[in-house]
Parts: sequence; C-alpha cells; structure tokens
Amino acid sequence: MELLAPAGNVEKLKFVLQYGADAAYMGFSSFSLRSQAGGMEELDPGELKKILGPKKLYAALNSYFLPDDLKRLDDELPKLQDYPISAFILSDMGLLPLLKKHFPHTERHLSTQANCLNQGSARVYGDLGFSRIILGREVPLDQIRIIRDAVPDLELEVFVHGAMCWAYSGRCYLSRGMAGAGRSGNTGDCTQSCRWDYKLYLEEAQRPGEFYEVDEEDGHTSLLSSRDLKMIDHLRDLQDAGVDSVKIEGRQKSAYYGSLVTRAYRAALDELDGKVYPWTEEHKMALEEAPHRDFSSGFFFDKEMMETPNEKDLHLSHAFLGYIGDYAGEGEWELMVRGPFRAGQTLEILSPDGPTKQDTTWVIRERTLGIQTEVNPGAVRRTYTIKSAQPLSKGMILRTLKAGSI
Ligand code: SF4
Repeated sequence: MELLAPAGNVEKLKFVLQYGADAAYMGFSSFSLRSQAGGMEELDPGELKKILGPKKLYAALNSYFLPDDLKRLDDELPKLQDYPISAFILSDMGLLPLLKKHFPHTERHLSTQANCLNQGSARVYGDLGFSRIILGREVPLDQIRIIRDAVPDLELEVFVHGAMCWAYSGRCYLSRGMAGAGRSGNTGDCTQSCRWDYKLYLEEAQRPGEFYEVDEEDGHTSLLSSRDLKMIDHLRDLQDAGVDSVKIEGRQKSAYYGSLVTRAYRAALDELDGKVYPWTEEHKMALEEAPHRDFSSGFFFDKEMMETPNEKDLHLSHAFLGYIGDYAGEGEWELMVRGPFRAGQTLEILSPDGPTKQDTTWVIRERTLGIQTEVNPGAVRRTYTIKSAQPLSKGMILRTLKAGSI
C-alpha cells in the first residue's frame, strides 16, 4: 500500500518524504481546500522535481468553486504545466473539463469531500475519468470490500490517521458561524471550531443572567470534538479489503507532527512487508508522542466509538524545538529553530531510521549573538547552530519534553 502524507508547504514536503512517505499531497496557495497552508508555487518546478525524486506529488484542488473561481482557474492552470504533478485531487465536477483541457494526461483522484460511499458512485466517477477514489471517512471496512470487488480497475484510498470532522466529511458551517465569513470549512479555511474549549452553562428561565457552569472532567468540556483517527494496528485489514493508498491528515500541522506520524506508518507498513528494524516498535509507539486527541478507529469498525466525544484536551508530551540543516563546520550543524528552548532542557533527537537519542550537553549558538541559553517564541527564526554529543545529520528533528510530562 502507498503511504500518502500531508505537505502544507515545501518544508513539510521535504520532511514527510525523508521520514518515509511514498507520496505527498499539497495545494496551490490560491486553490487549496486548506488555503492557509501554503502551496507548491513556493518553488519552481525544477526544484520541486529534485525534492521529489521518484516519489509522487498529488495536487489538491478540492475546494468548492464559484463561477468567478472557475474562470480564474482556467487562467491559472496553464502556468502549472511544468510542475511534477502525478494527479489532481478534486471534489467539484465542474473542474473536470478544465483539467481535461489543460492536463489531459494527468490522473484525477476523487476527493473525500465528494463523499463517495458506495460502488455505484465509484463506478460513475470511474466512468468520468477518475483513476482513484478517496472514500468518505464514513465507509466501514466490510463495505470497502464490496466497493473493491465492484470496481477492480479503480484505486481506493482511505484516511488512516489524524483529525476527524464532527460534521459529515467537512460539510460544516460551524467554523463560519463561530469565526465569521471567510473561515468556512467548505472553502478551505476551517478554524476547527469543533475542537475549541467550550463552556456549557445552564440558565433557568426565571433567573435570567444567572449562569450555572457545567464542567466535564478536569474542567474540559468538549461537546463537539471528535476523537482522532488511528489505524496503525489495522493496516493488514485495510490491505485485505483492497485499499491501495493510506493517507495521513494534517496539512496544517507542523513538520514535526507530519514526520513523526509518517515515520510510524512507514515502520508499520514495512513490518507488514516483513521488514522489521530494531526501532520499528519505538517508531510506531511514537504516535502517542505526536500531539493528538483521544484516538479511535473512526467508522471502520464500530460507529459507537466515533460517536463518543474526545474527553481530554490535546495530548501534548513534547515540544518541537527545530531541525538540523547543513553541516556548519567545526562540529556544528545549522539548526532551524521552530520553538522556544532554555538551558538545562534534555534534547531528544529523532531521525527517519534509528532510535531516539537524548542529549543534555548540547550547545546552541546564534551567528551574531554567540551561545544562547534561552530562546523565546518571538525570536525563533534567527540563524542558529548546534553542537551535540550525539551524531547529527541533516533532517534530524529536535524536541524537548513538555513540563509535567514523563
Ligand atoms: S469545524 Fe470541525 S466539524 Fe466543522 S469542518 Fe471544521 S473540523 Fe470539520
């Protein structure tokens, strides 16, 4: 099975490829469903090809288009001709004629936003020229087998990890209602309002203005927040059901999150192919360390699990500090800082193919300011180098333990 990872921008793309993805999906800044997430226009097509090598890149065009948007797309698509796009992901059938006109030989994948849940729809989309169906998250595993048997010539892709919508595969106005026009989940700007920390109050009709607060566990009230999806222990079931590609959600999440989750699923898929490494179990278990809400297996087995809301706030055991760039000479490596740190913290060093290492003797230096004992979030984009007792190499990820975690 193909391992397909999210790439919200070029930095994230490099990481998920290095940490084991076979393919990545990415948007264009102007037409992505996740329009806040950046796009492939950050680089020219040649540079993007070098980063990809033999791996595949799928272009997400799965927003909903108004007549003016369609005209803009018709103007913009020819500018993208040289980009290394293996397939377009779309949910709006109005785009088909434009893609056939400008990219007649590029494959088309039906987005999960189109809510394809059965073999009848899959066949219709296949007849329209789609080579792959990204099934709606609502399809149970035993029903995937039925679809597989009915459309043997179509590829099937499913989400296996990450946030789940409380609404029906993203068709939701909650974010627009809570955060205002322009922040709608249907047009790519969801603020994930279903996961905000709500307070629930009772107001008795005869006592207006007197509110009685209703707390759930630990003061956290989550009425709308779905559990996260996690299918790492069921990949063989998906393979047996005829799934061709397993997809990780999270284009808006950090490069750290994307790398950790991609690495875990790489280890699990390799294990399925009989390749077991000394660090396989550790990499799979590291899913517990990536920021997440309570896990579930979504709609694959038992819908009841899906209907039980997430009970705790985000599980957050580590903080992303940054990643290693090029060798800077004299034992030091470039460090791209993405989070705050202070002297005395234990660094954890993660790599795509090895166990996690720890270091307490690290020295971080800023090019003009010298040795740094503390960096605040506002200054994280400066140029830093690091010296460590542990061997370092380009692309390694550094993190620290969050206070109170073990
Ligand atoms: S607010 Fe929640 S349920 Fe609605 S689209 Fe966003 S993530 Fe999905």
